[in-house]
Amino acid sequence: MQPLKVYNTLTRQKEIFEPIIPGHVGLYVCGPTVYNYVHLGNIRSFLTFDVLYRYLMQTGYKVRYVRNITDVGHLVGDGEEGEDKIGKMAKLEKLEPMEIVQRYTNDFHKVLDQFNFLPPSIEPSATGHMVEQIEAVKSLIEKGLAYESNGSVYFDINKYNEAGNDYGKLSGRILEDLLNETRELDGQAEKRNPLDFAIWKKAAPEHIMQWPSPWGMGFPGWHLECTCMSTKYLGKQFDIHGGGMDLKFPHHECEIAQGKALTGEEPVRYWMHSNMLTVNGQKMSKSLGNSFLPAELFSGSHPSLDQAYSPMTVRFFMLQSQYRSTLDFSNDALKGSQKAYRRLINGLRIVKTLEFEASETPVDEKKKSEIDKAITAFYDAINDDLNTAVAIAQLFTLLKYINMIYMNQLAPSALGQETFDALKSNFVLFFEDILGLKEEKLGNDESVINGMLTLYKEYKANQQYDKVDQVRAYFKGNNMTIKDMKHRIDWAWEE
Ligand code: ZN
Repeated sequence: MQPLKVYNTLTRQKEIFEPIIPGHVGLYVCGPTVYNYVHLGNIRSFLTFDVLYRYLMQTGYKVRYVRNITDVGHLVGDGEEGEDKIGKMAKLEKLEPMEIVQRYTNDFHKVLDQFNFLPPSIEPSATGHMVEQIEAVKSLIEKGLAYESNGSVYFDINKYNEAGNDYGKLSGRILEDLLNETRELDGQAEKRNPLDFAIWKKAAPEHIMQWPSPWGMGFPGWHLECTCMSTKYLGKQFDIHGGGMDLKFPHHECEIAQGKALTGEEPVRYWMHSNMLTVNGQKMSKSLGNSFLPAELFSGSHPSLDQAYSPMTVRFFMLQSQYRSTLDFSNDALKGSQKAYRRLINGLRIVKTLEFEASETPVDEKKKSEIDKAITAFYDAINDDLNTAVAIAQLFTLLKYINMIYMNQLAPSALGQETFDALKSNFVLFFEDILGLKEEKLGNDESVINGMLTLYKEYKANQQYDKVDQVRAYFKGNNMTIKDMKHRIDWAWEE
């Protein structure tokens, strides 16, 4: 089997993953900003790291997974000037800012739960780490790498680079180009260099969320929290930092600068970024009116959709492409994914019931080796920078044999006990534990469904064909179908 390789944005190549402490992995992922609605682009990023987290644990690592909640410092317009997003909501809705944060966090967890994401080991918030952030600002000033100006504190890019560092190395930005881009922006007068970024901002009196500091009342800059929380929980240098592509600059670039400036160490070994979503070939964005909220998918209420799609269908759809490729979102693509997902779910239902039976049937070496190869290929695909697209193709190879056994076209003993057991256990392991997919109960209790199936068998035996048709219609109405085969009668999800 291949070793796990991940694409490191910092070195721009795939590298064999080697943790700093053998057997342990520190993983940090930038969490959501209250009160930004979580859209599908965010979901894709969280999904990437959910699969990574699951896989690392599956391969025996102890993983400390930290994902923060940004509950201060992110301003309306995403810049360094303007109103605090939470403060604005709090004023509009006449709520305590922490009520806004709590309500948002609860909603966020609900959405993540619908997509079957595992919760992180620690979910720290920026407001809960004010002491650490103020200490970090003090330390950066002491080191001569930050300066106070009119109650705000800025990170000094020139001083940082003079000390032998390279601001821009993660995103590949060149300082000259960055300077040209930033000249036009407001609020530059306080800075020595237009590229310097705020690590502490002076708060206007009407700003609700503000804290006392050696520089007066204010609040931390957005980039600082991730540096403080990742250092606190994962150490000066940790293994993997993840996020969406859009966070590469300036957020992650600033995290590297702050971390390096504070501790002298490169804060992260492997930087991983998931690519963006497109809709019918166009970039997904709020301003283009083509962004999707999870709820619009689950209800089918978005104008681009002609039906509702379940969370597992969407999860499966996203897994059908590798996280670093762009993924195009469309009603047709989702339809295709729904069909494929249901085929696999039917396979999952079947494989859990299959039993090995010894028989005279000789071992079919060709089939046996095809299954063994597909299992190895699944691991190789995930080890190849989480190539879930190729991994899923292996699941369909396994499914082919599961269905053959189910249809009585292949005796379990033709695979030999070892390969049969491997087929059974790995299909479930890959589908449920590594890809994090599960069977969705679509409304009906299993006992009701089984009762209906028993009725079907009785009606059929008594030749009550009108009643047989009624039962068939009941199944169809619930996206299910009756499988009336020679050797058994069963039900399955409609594909
Ligand atoms: Zn962050």
